[in-house]
Parts: sequence; structure tokens; C-alpha cells
Amino acid sequence: MPHIQQLPAHVADLIAAGEVVERPASVVKELVENAIDAGASAVVVEIRRGGMGLIRVTDNGCGIAPGELPTAFLRHATSKLRSAGDLGKIGTLGFRGEALAAISAVSRVEILTRQKDSGSGACLHLEGGVPGQVEEAGAPVGTTIAVRDLFYNTPARLKFMKKDSAETAAVAGLMQHLALSHPDISFKFIKDGVESLHTPGDGKTESAVYAALGRDFAKSLVPVEGRGGEVAVSGFVTQPLMGRGSRSMQVFFVNGRFIKSQLLTAALEEGYRNQIMKGKFPGCVLSVTLPVTEVDVNVHPAKTQVKFAREREVFDAVYHTVLDCLDARTAPAAPKSVQQAVNPRKDFFQTMDAKTYREQGAKPTEKPAPAAPARPAAPSKPARPVSGGLYTTSWDGEWRSTVQVADSVPPPVRPAAFRPLEKPAGAFGKPPASVTEKPVERPAPAPEKKPEPRAQASAEPELPKPEPSFVPAIPPEPQTTLELPEQQTIEEPKEAPWRIAGEVLHTYIICESGDGCVWLIDKHAAHERINFDRLKANLEPPMRQTLLRPIAAELTKEDGALLLENLSLLTQFGFACEDFGDGAILVREVPADINAEDTAPTLEEFAENLRAGRSLEEKRENLLHTMACKAAIKGGWTSDPAELRVLVEKVQSGEVKYCPHGRPVAVKLTKYELEKMFRRA
Ligand code: ADP
Ligand code: MG
Repeated sequence: MPHIQQLPAHVADLIAAGEVVERPASVVKELVENAIDAGASAVVVEIRRGGMGLIRVTDNGCGIAPGELPTAFLRHATSKLRSAGDLGKIGTLGFRGEALAAISAVSRVEILTRQKDSGSGACLHLEGGVPGQVEEAGAPVGTTIAVRDLFYNTPARLKFMKKDSAETAAVAGLMQHLALSHPDISFKFIKDGVESLHTPGDGKTESAVYAALGRDFAKSLVPVEGRGGEVAVSGFVTQPLMGRGSRSMQVFFVNGRFIKSQLLTAALEEGYRNQIMKGKFPGCVLSVTLPVTEVDVNVHPAKTQVKFAREREVFDAVYHTVLDCLDARTAPAAPKSVQQAVNPRKDFFQTMDAKTYREQGAKPTEKPAPAAPARPAAPSKPARPVSGGLYTTSWDGEWRSTVQVADSVPPPVRPAAFRPLEKPAGAFGKPPASVTEKPVERPAPAPEKKPEPRAQASAEPELPKPEPSFVPAIPPEPQTTLELPEQQTIEEPKEAPWRIAGEVLHTYIICESGDGCVWLIDKHAAHERINFDRLKANLEPPMRQTLLRPIAAELTKEDGALLLENLSLLTQFGFACEDFGDGAILVREVPADINAEDTAPTLEEFAENLRAGRSLEEKRENLLHTMACKAAIKGGWTSDPAELRVLVEKVQSGEVKYCPHGRPVAVKLTKYELEKMFRRA
């Protein structure tokens, strides 16, 4: 073994320099951070050959005293830190006192600087870290540092440099981040003589975003602002429908420092959960500000990572800020009266949860519906009571609303279940002939039994009578010729804040809102979302139906085994299953929302959900998606006007915006947009 000996100082410096100065972009980062720390309001960065030929950074900051110039280039020389105690409260971008030493160790540096109240400036030349003489020189206030021939004395590092174009791109990306993090500073970036970025430095993040990331991205953003405890969050995030293909447009700053953080990324993306399409990512320019004692920036030589003292608090602040602002933004601009009126009838068409069922289900008014002839296996199911208030809102130049309390609504003639179990009795959820591939037989009139008035309702006779037109007394006739359905204009009560103009392709509801907009609503997506939210909010297990004849679901052995392994989860979702041997599963009970004939496909999908989910939480969420989808009306089915109304109401009130997969539920066209299309405007 050779003897152990201490490395010569210049070799140690080169090794240390390697940590700080990895590539031209790291030099630019350190020099610009110094300029920012020096209080500059304008910074110009110029590079040639990807920064390998020249990097020149000019600022109008405080400058350096001539006598301190050589000191600035010594290792661990800094004006920003005095004691170990200061490390716990770093407010400047630099603090390690290493950058100038490291940069000058691996290049040829020239610095020209003048302080504000000094008559003349000074310059210094360094070669491989070895300084020349400080000389007096004429200079504007501020500092200019030119770095030439980077890595000229470290051939090993030089070999690893990428093409000039790749290094230029890295510097350009960095300049974007720097410009975004300091909208109050004007940044100019010139590469090979061509200006590629110039921000106004007017203090507005919007201006910096526009200049640095382009018009299209800027247009996709919405502002967000919030606070949780001592953590303030502000900036811009992309609208959910404008998700991006990667995370490259996620820009985070912590106390003005650009950083990469999985915690912040996770908090942002959690805010978009179920709002953004699968495979898409939100973009953002988000600034997190918290007391300097709550964040440790000294965890990475390049200072691109931080450690938060209270991670949960930071996560929550970002998550809630994003979520709240998205919710507020994406709600359609409904008049106040509509929003106020929404709450009393929130659960109007919801499936009763088990708790409500236990409390109300035994009442004589909720008689079991007659067994459906088309589905002999289906058990009897209590009619769903109508709960929640009835409201009407009208537009006649001014919005008016009337709210009727829940119990003033007598039970409708046909139980207002969102999707009746008995398909022939209710038009909702009825596939057209083209879907069933068989001509649909005209069913005999549904065996409608008028339920007794509810006990509570009859006990309060003074309450106003409901709108007779709200729930149609007679379900519309099922359509028999469905290839080219007649355009049906559905009558709406005059008071509605919107009007359903019709339904097309058995899938999209066309609706006109009082503010002169036309809406196209995907009925399946809207219903799926309603189901999803309801299922998610229900802490109680869902209502089940016991099948008269159990179903043996034939599955692959793998799927069968997977489901049997997760029996308790299936039970929570309303399925009572047992092993039927050879991959088959015997199903005795299914959730009330699921059609008995959908049992096997649902279980198949469940198996896929269980396979794909990485955590229990994710598996649960996947199962909820499947349940919500299976329980929803499908595009192509014929729907009842009353049911369409509920969907429209939920969309118009802003309660429903995206399907659980993040696809839009409604598309809105303003009057102006229509006029533009027809060249009227
Ligand atoms: P640090 O930024 O960590 O303090 P540096 O090696 O980057 O260490 O800089 C050393 C010192 O040189 C700084 O503390 C600062 O006082 C001075 N300095 C560097 N760049 C500038 C600049 N552009 N304007 C004014 N002072 C500067
Ligand atoms: Mg520095």
C-alpha cells in the first residue's frame, strides 16, 4: 500500500469544485444567485458554445469592495454567513462560500465590479484559481463576471460534457426557473449572440411566466393562493383539462429558491386527483414561503433540494390551496341564487345509504317495488325515498329562487330512484335496440303503484305543494325505433335557470343556461361522477340486494383467487361472495346500484383493479371507479327527462365537473363563441 498523505491544496480544490461545478448551467446558477443576493434588479446572462466558450453574468447589484475581491475567491469565503447558528436561518441563495472558488479553480475568470458609493471600480483576473493583481478600472455599479474555457484544466470532466446544444438547453431551462422565481428582477439571456429570454422585472409572476414559458402555457394557468399555518402558497397551476404529458412544467420555489421536491409534486398532484386525465400531469409555477427556520436548504451541494421541518404542514398547505382554488375556478359562473339553492337538495337523487335506510327503510311508505318481469333474479328493492329540498330558480333579467323544504315533496308517482332496479318500469338505464342488438319489445305499461304519502309529509299539510311538472306522472313511452330517434324537446318548468333543449345520440344533453350559454353534457360521465362522489362519501357500506337466485360468476382461476383473497374488501363494497371452485365465484348479494347481469363483468374488473392497485388505498379507489361506472347510465341508453334534469342540475350547480377519470363532463359554448363560429361576431 502506498503511504497516506494529504492532497495538495489545488487538487483538493479541483475535487471540491467538481461537486459544485458540474456543467455550464451550474456556473450560471451560482453566478446569478450571487447577483440576486447582491440585490440586483437587472441581470444579463450571456453564453457562447453552450457556456464552454464563455459565460458572462452582469448585474447592477451592490458590487464588491476592491480590497475584498481576492477573498471572495477563497474557499469558504462568504459575506452571508457568520456563525454555525446562522445555518439554521438562511435567507440568501448562497451561503456556502464555495462558488467563486470552485468556478475559478476550473476556468479562467475575469471580474469587474464597482460599489455604489465608490468613485471607481476594480478588476481581477484568475487562472485556474490563481489570482492576479487587483487593478482599478472604470465600471458601472454592479458586477460583471466572465468565465472562459470551463474545465480547461480538468480534461476528465471536459470529456463528459454533452454537445453544446444540450448544455445551452440546460442553461436556458435554468434561466426560465431563475426568471420565474424572481419576477421583480429583469432577466436577459443571450445565447451565441441571440436574445432568447427577456423578462420585464415588473414584479408580476404572470409577466415572468408569459416571457419565460410562453403564451400557450401562460394561458392554461389559473392563479392559486392559500395559507396553512405558517406556510404560504401562491402562484399558478394548469387547468385540469390542460394537463401536460410530463412533469417538466412543474416549477416549485421555496423561499424564492427553485427546488425539486417529491413532496411538493405529490401535494400538487393530489389536488388534481380525479380531475385530470390519466397519464397527464399538472403544470405549475408555485411559490412556497415559510419561516427560514422551518426549512433546511443545506442538504445538497447544488442547493436544489430542501428538507422541511414539518413536511405534513407543507403538504397540506399546497394540497388544500390547489384543491380549493381549482374547485372555486371550475364551478360554472352560476348566479348566487343557484348556488345557495343547491345545498338543500344535495342528496335529492342519491341512493339511500345504509344508515338512512335503517332509519327510514322500515316506514310503510317505502314499499318494495314489484319484481321486474325482465329480471326474475332481481330481488325486491325498497323504493328510494326522495330526500332533500326542491328548488326552482328563474331568470327574467334577474335570478329568483324558491326553495321548498324536503318534506314538502311528496313521493313521486314513480319512485325517483336514480336508476330503477326494474329496467322496464323506468326509462332510465334503458339501452336502445341498437345497444341490445335485439328489437326492444314494447313492454306493457309499468305496474305503477302510487306509494302512500310519507308520514312526515302528511303531518305537515301547511307546506306548499310541489311543482306538478317536476316529476312526470307518467314515465315517457319507451322508444321502439331507435335508429334515428326523433328530436324531443323536453318541457322544462319555466322557473329553471336553464332549459334542456334535448338529447342527442342518446348520450349528450343539450342545455341552455340563463346566461346565454349552450352546454353539452355527457350523461354517463356526469352520472358516473355523481355515483363516485356518493360512494366515496358513504362511510357506511352500500345498500345490498340479495339475489333470488345466486349467480355463479365464471372467472379465470387467477381472477377468482385474487377476489377470494380480498373477500373482505368485496364485502365492504356490497358483494357477498364465496368460493364456487375452479375460479368460479358464487355471488349471493350485490350492491343495490349494480344490475344483477353486470355482476360477472364487475367482478372481472374488480380483479383487474386489485391487480393494478399498489396500495390498499389505490385498490379501494379503483374499485370505487368501477362501481361508479357500472352503476351509471350508459351513453346510448334512453333516459327519462326527470333523470336528465338531475344530471343537468348537478352540472349547472358546479357540483359535477369531471368524471372520475378526469374527462370533462360538460362542454360549454358561450353565445359569443357561437356567434364567432357563424361569423356573426
Ligand atoms: P456565497 O454566495 O455562498 O457567499 P460565493 O463564492 O458565491 O459564496 O461568493 C463569495 C462572496 O462574494 C459572496 O458572499 C459575496 O459577498 C461576494 N459576491 C459574489 N458575487 C457577487 C456579486 N455578483 N455581487 C456582489 N457580491 C458578490
Ligand atoms: Mg454564491
